[in-house]
Amino acid sequence: MPIKRKNRGRSKGKGSRGRSEYVFCAQCGKRIPADKAIKRVSWVPTVPGSIVKELEKQGTYVPKKRVVRYYCVSCAVFLGIVKIRARDERKELPEEMLLRRYKVK
Ligand SMILES: [Zn+2]
Repeated sequence: MPIKRKNRGRSKGKGSRGRSEYVFCAQCGKRIPADKAIKRVSWVPTVPGSIVKELEKQGTYVPKKRVVRYYCVSCAVFLGIVKIRARDERKELPEEMLLRRYKVK
C-alpha cells in the first residue's frame, strides 16, 4: 500500500509550476489541489453487475467506462487506499511541538 504523502505532500515542483488546479474529493466533497489529491482510476462496466457475469460467461464483450476518482488525504487513509507511516518512520517533530502536543512538563 502506498504511503500517505511523498515530496512534502504535493508534486508541484520547486516553484516552476505555481498554482495548481483544484479537484473535489469523491468521498467528502472537499476541494483539494490536484497535485495533492490521491487519484484512482477504475474501469466500471456500463451494465449492472449481475448481468456482467452472465455476459462474460457467454463470451460477450462488456463495455467499460473509465471512472477517475480523486480523494483527499484523510479520506484515502480512512478508505485504506493509502496508509500512514509506522511510528519510527514518521518525521521527528521539534521538541516544543512535542511538548505542546503531549503536555509533558
Ligand atoms: Zn475527502
